[in-house]
Amino acid sequence: MIAGILKEKIGENRVILLPETVVELIKKKVEVWVESGAGARAYSSDEMYVNAGALITTAEKILDGADLLLRISPPETGWMKQIRGDQVWIGVLNPLSDKEMVQQLITHKLTTFSLDIIPRTSRAQAMDILSSQATAAGYRAVLDAAMHLPTFFPMFMTAAGTITPAKVMIIGAGVAGLQAIATSRKLGARVEAFDVRTAVKEEVESLGAKFIEVEGALDDKSAGGYAVEQTEEYKARQRQAVHDHAIKSDVIITTAQIPGKMAPKLLMKETVEGMKAGSVIVDLAASTGGNCELTVNGETFEHNRVRIIGQSYYPSTLPKDASKMFGKNALNFMSLLISKDGSLNLDFEDDLVAGTCVTRDGEIVNPRVKSLYS
Ligand code: NAD
Repeated sequence: MIAGILKEKIGENRVILLPETVVELIKKKVEVWVESGAGARAYSSDEMYVNAGALITTAEKILDGADLLLRISPPETGWMKQIRGDQVWIGVLNPLSDKEMVQQLITHKLTTFSLDIIPRTSRAQAMDILSSQATAAGYRAVLDAAMHLPTFFPMFMTAAGTITPAKVMIIGAGVAGLQAIATSRKLGARVEAFDVRTAVKEEVESLGAKFIEVEGALDDKSAGGYAVEQTEEYKARQRQAVHDHAIKSDVIITTAQIPGKMAPKLLMKETVEGMKAGSVIVDLAASTGGNCELTVNGETFEHNRVRIIGQSYYPSTLPKDASKMFGKNALNFMSLLISKDGSLNLDFEDDLVAGTCVTRDGEIVNPRVKSLYS
């Protein structure tokens, strides 16, 4: 079998597999072709891929001859007609939100796997790109906030006086939020965090942060580790709690998301207007509408002297390690599709294979995606 690594879309600095991961794939008896320049923005040259055992070629040749088509970004529209149903696309297709893309995949009868919908089971942990990339996002968000903040993060007691530590509030203590807590703590800030899933209270506290409690959250165990929509009454109480803590914070990092839905609005305009001048908000949910009412996706601006950064693409700003982690996840997933002799083996009896498959033979396979389109 041949796996082909395609160059990412403009603005995406990561690459799906670094040369070091290509070595692992070749050990599984898979031939690897790489589009020239595919790893350049992740500091991996064509020469490094050749040394890893890959062949450097063009996108045309890969689209025509590879069995596995590998790219983080979705396929270009122009490629849809060219890709055949017997080839397998592996990447991130955002099928829970990108309806147009899913329609195209159905129309062209493509066989596609989207790593962002892999079931959240313990066996899938090593394949979970949302987790690994959220780690990069949470870390980078804190560094970005620190760079924009007009004050220090840590406390200093110096001959020039005492500097009080920054107060950081994290909204959403999932993977990105927990990493943001850990990074803020390492930089010496005082941290508090809030999440609808009260199960994370212990994790928050073990990282040295305070958990903000709001009673009455719906916690659906069947949602597989994800948050669920909350009642209007709870949302009002939550907004008040967020407001009370926000006006005392220097930095707020929001990460709250509900898969397949717009991000919940947790930080309202009046709250932002009550915050201290110079405070910074980093909204990691920007691409799904943002947790802050004022967020503009991909933009940084000031409102009432509070800086609002709407950024969902931090992993791309850490391309080497984000690609390293992404590639390891992708390799672990691909291992499910490769038989001992290196040939393709699509076993739809395997819950992870079936659960990650978006489309096949003109049909939607993943039940979560299917329910959105029926
Ligand atoms: P996510 O990106 O979907 O959401 C981020 C956080 O925002 C979550 O903690 C969520 O509870 C929170 N949130 C959602 N709505 C909110 C609201 N209205 N107010 C406050 N917070 C809100 O989630 P995630 O970070 O990808 O993962 C969540 C959890 O899933 C993880 O902590 C982990 O325990 C679990 N997980 C399991 C696996 C696995 O077993 N394979 C993989 C990844 C994650």
